[in-house]
Amino acid sequence: MFSLGARVKIAVVGGGPAGLYLSILLKRQDPSHEIAVHERNAAGSTYGWGVTYWAGLLDKLRAGDPESADAVAEASVTWTDGLAIVRDQRTVHRGDAGFGIGRRRMLGLLADRAAELGVELAYERPVTGPDAPELAGADLVVAADGVHSALREAHADHYGTTFTTGRNPYIWLGTSKVFDSFSFAFKETGHGWIWCYAYGFSGERSTCVVECAPATWTGLGLDTMPEGDCLALLEKLFHDLLDGHELIGRDRGTEPAQWLRFRTLTTKNWHRGRTVLLGDAAHTTHYSIGAGTTLALEDALALADALRTGPADPAALDAALTSYGKRRRAELVSAQSAARLSAQWYENLPRYMDLEPDRMFALLGQRHSPLLPYVPPQLYYRIDRAAGRLEALRRLKRWLGPRVARAVHRG
Ligand SMILES: Cc1cc2nc3c(=O)[nH]c(=O)nc-3n(C[C@H](O)[C@H](O)[C@H](O)COP(=O)(O)OP(=O)(O)OC[C@H]3O[C@@H](n4cnc5c(N)ncnc54)[C@H](O)[C@@H]3O)c2cc1C
Repeated sequence: MFSLGARVKIAVVGGGPAGLYLSILLKRQDPSHEIAVHERNAAGSTYGWGVTYWAGLLDKLRAGDPESADAVAEASVTWTDGLAIVRDQRTVHRGDAGFGIGRRRMLGLLADRAAELGVELAYERPVTGPDAPELAGADLVVAADGVHSALREAHADHYGTTFTTGRNPYIWLGTSKVFDSFSFAFKETGHGWIWCYAYGFSGERSTCVVECAPATWTGLGLDTMPEGDCLALLEKLFHDLLDGHELIGRDRGTEPAQWLRFRTLTTKNWHRGRTVLLGDAAHTTHYSIGAGTTLALEDALALADALRTGPADPAALDAALTSYGKRRRAELVSAQSAARLSAQWYENLPRYMDLEPDRMFALLGQRHSPLLPYVPPQLYYRIDRAAGRLEALRRLKRWLGPRVARAVHRG
């Protein structure tokens, strides 16, 4: 068991999924640990709507802490179908079971579980930097303070921080329509395509993420419109998907709507002395693969694992944090590649929009493929269909994909 002294003091900065879940795991590992989570916001106030995850995550969470895993499972909704509306045509695909849970609900469940185990939850407590009084005397400081992490930014060079900003503006909204399938709508306007995807996360609400190219955004006036007008225009564009339901932003007021460009973060080193990065503070992956929360929770599982066996001295802590960072950076490679390819697929959307809707939808499901950007979409679709029937071809495709991607990358 990780132990630097009689009573280990752990300061976690950030009460998002990563910070809360790590505090649960470490407290379970050793109830004598003194663990405090410092969160700048008030309890129950958070950004975002629902988040998606897949069944494999629940198995991992059950191994980490069955109680919180059961609570997350119980509060989640599930779907198997995917629906796409392309212009006015509908197409449906059956897929693997997906899950959605409200971000606020999940944080509430994790916070309750952490408090039950004896973790101190300090809300409305912003930690200003590595020398903040909240961190004094801590044996271990966990920077789980999200993509804008103040603890990481204070030593950005040491952590080897790199940001890449996506091309397309997007907005993360809620809606009162409750979707029972993972649903997309692609609409052609006089200024180019605009699209959204939506999924349920409770019995009353769904998430709706809208995205378009910059020229479409400015052409439609979305860049300058007050939020109220912006939501009204999006409701009109996506009326068949929303069935007349409203979109929900901040307050539908006169302030500009919260359009953003996604920032992909990578870091080379994940710890500095007693401070370690966790979740979005260490890495982000484009929202279109719906994996950031899962990856943050997996970081927490890996860090708790690394701290389980360390002997009682600071050098061992350093070794444990090094091995955690090394393991997670390796495990993240495929998700980071999928996220990059997925973001690019959407940035090249017009390339796929002349296909029949069911073919376009099939290739949307293949957007993580490194081969797809280099093969004409119709041909890729036919190869994929054939590969679906012929396992040998599928293996060839898997073998060829990374080689083509590497060769093109080198070129
Ligand atoms: C549009 C969009 C859609 C997404 N959809 C999905 C999805 O479907 N599935 C999925 O898995 N992921 C999704 N994500 C990603 C997911 O939201 C994040 O990856 C996840 O929240 C990361 O968890 P975290 O705990 O590391 O960071 P965060 O959730 O960002 O938590 C960080 C916490 O730290 C607090 N904090 C920050 N600074 C300080 C400070 N100085 N002092 C104290 N507290 C501080 C913040 O208030 C926050 O509570 C999406 C993201 C976006 C943008």
